[in-house]
Amino acid sequence: MCIFCQIVKKEIPSQIVYEDDEILAFKDIQPKAKVHLLIIPKKHINSLNEAKNEEILGKLLLRAKELAKEFKISKSGYKIVINTGKDAGQVIFHLHLHLLGGEELKSFF
Ligand code: 5GP
Ligand code: ZN
Repeated sequence: MCIFCQIVKKEIPSQIVYEDDEILAFKDIQPKAKVHLLIIPKKHINSLNEAKNEEILGKLLLRAKELAKEFKISKSGYKIVINTGKDAGQVIFHLHLHLLGGEELKSFF
């Protein structure tokens, strides 16, 4: 079982900031910004390449927006990143959105 599935099952502790039937959001263990959250579907999907469900993709993005509001970075700004595959540096092959903010972020492109 992948590490994020273990986090979903609470077999590995994490700092959960949001949970419902389909989605879990928790703090990244090695934050790359003052606010760095990971937002994942509870159901295992390897990466965006394997994602088929429009509804869950929409929910993940809208949840990221709500969490940005909750963490008070809506106005200052934030990035949402989905690393997909080797060249993007995806390490955990369970689809996740990074929500980054709370400070000026380096531009990737
Ligand atoms: P990726 O490069 O796959 O997009 O990012 C994976 C992210 O998961 C990294 O930012 C890494 O710090 C985070 N991460 C890896 N293992 C754990 C863990 O056990 N707990 C938490 N909270 N984050 C993790
Ligand atoms: Zn998984």
